[in-house]
Amino acid sequence: MAIRSITEPTLDAAVAAIAVDNPATGAPITDVPTTSPDGVRAAVAAARKAQPRWQALGFRRRRALFHTSQQWFLDNRQRVLDSIVAENGKAEEEAVVEFIYCVSAFSFWSRRAKGFLKDRSVRSASPFVFGRGMHTRRAPLGVIGVIGPWNNPLINSFGDAIPALAAGNAVVLKPSEQTPLTALLMLEMARDCGYPDDVFQVVTGAAATGEALIDEADFVMFTGSTRTGRRVAARAAERLIPSSLELGGKDALIVLADAPLERAVNVAVHGALFNGGQTCTSVERVYVEAGIYDRFLTAVAQRVGEIRAGVPAGLGSVDVGAMTFPPQLDIVDDHVRDAVARGARVLAGGKRGEGPGRFYEPTLLVDVDHSMKCMREETFGPTLPIMKVRDAEEAVRLVNDSEYGLQASIITGDAHRGRRLAARLEAGAVTVNDAQSNYLALGLPMGGWKNSGLGVRHGAEGIRKYTKLQSISVNSHPTRRDPHMMPFEPSSYRLILKLVGFLYGRYKARRS
Ligand code: NDP
Repeated sequence: MAIRSITEPTLDAAVAAIAVDNPATGAPITDVPTTSPDGVRAAVAAARKAQPRWQALGFRRRRALFHTSQQWFLDNRQRVLDSIVAENGKAEEEAVVEFIYCVSAFSFWSRRAKGFLKDRSVRSASPFVFGRGMHTRRAPLGVIGVIGPWNNPLINSFGDAIPALAAGNAVVLKPSEQTPLTALLMLEMARDCGYPDDVFQVVTGAAATGEALIDEADFVMFTGSTRTGRRVAARAAERLIPSSLELGGKDALIVLADAPLERAVNVAVHGALFNGGQTCTSVERVYVEAGIYDRFLTAVAQRVGEIRAGVPAGLGSVDVGAMTFPPQLDIVDDHVRDAVARGARVLAGGKRGEGPGRFYEPTLLVDVDHSMKCMREETFGPTLPIMKVRDAEEAVRLVNDSEYGLQASIITGDAHRGRRLAARLEAGAVTVNDAQSNYLALGLPMGGWKNSGLGVRHGAEGIRKYTKLQSISVNSHPTRRDPHMMPFEPSSYRLILKLVGFLYGRYKARRS
């Protein structure tokens, strides 16, 4: 069975080649073509043609294909990991997390899709629709355009295609031009597993390819920066198609005075440096209550000193890998320099790493405040700025003093207090005594507040967004004529108004 791909001439795709390199070594890997707007149009048209057959397969047969995919992942584990590490430069352990996510996502959505999308009966209290049977149903939207970033080449691209496919849609995926190879590997997965032709396609290219996809798809699932997200939303709005936007963050961690010290240190260091800090849910700023500040700082400095950064070479080789996107190095360096110029101290790192690859040293910043870029703008690099606060009240105020609201974390010895505090934080997701682990909880919706996004992934809402809602009302025992129908009869309307007074006037009467 042939899955059509951008490498085939049928899509008239290649107008310019994109060079893909290994960010950790600087070595070229390969070139991929830029898909022209015509190529994108052809891909979406083919997907649209294929979608009804995919929908007609039903949940049970799609589930069987998902099980095959799951097995494909297990059989091709090392190829998937190598692909992610090579094009992104992350440590292999971090690629393992992407791998686990996808294997579990096939399982989760194949088990839960049907229940999340089933018909629901609705009861109306209104006597004016008495006797009608009412229910809602959900139908796939058609062709979902998924546009993904470079920091997680698998989960933030193909990962979002899984629930879209489970709902009966076809998917056209545009990965970042920095990291297109793992998406292309998913094309191979679909072919090997026997997905119907054209149901899943990949179009490689840069912004123009993404724009062309927005111009053709029925829904856009976008993950990327807030700046691009605004453009995507505006373009989608021109066509009146819905979009879901998972955008940037400036995630905060609060360490309360009663926090278990070791846990706090591990969550802070892992949360800030995982993926070299190139994660939307990275811990980008830490607020520590005065009572534990000195002990916390000593322990964090020691732990950061133990972190191994460098070229990934299999499990156990490094903790922090490369910086994937070249301009990101300048942003990280700018934030560190700005902080130092405004009075911050660097306790570890603070400069670019050496070698032919792209690296920034794991960096610990103290004496920081909210006048500094490192506390206000998304850094997206291996930095850990720590600020002392008087108490939890000051921490809450500072956490909420941000244009972003993706995720926040609290470390405390009192889980009940953590839960109460969580409700006061302006973030779409809050973890207590954890950071980031909630991403693997596919039943728990996740989406940003404020400038961190619109819409959610995961949970019931994470698949319902890929459907259109239809309401059906059936009058199974129709009379010849209802009292409100034409020609209008004053006596009928007098009766109707009496009924309205009886039904809705009681409340007023009781109150007076
Ligand atoms: P960008 O916004 O630069 O790019 C994201 C994707 O959009 C890429 O595929 C990019 O293509 C494409 N694109 C760029 N311009 C346009 C356009 N005008 N129309 C359509 N598509 C376009 O983000 P990054 O790739 O730099 O990713 C990092 C950002 O992603 C960070 O801000 C991070 O916080 C965020 N992110 C958010 C997550 C969340 O769940 N909230 C998860 C992961 C990351 P190309 O790269 O080829 O130019």
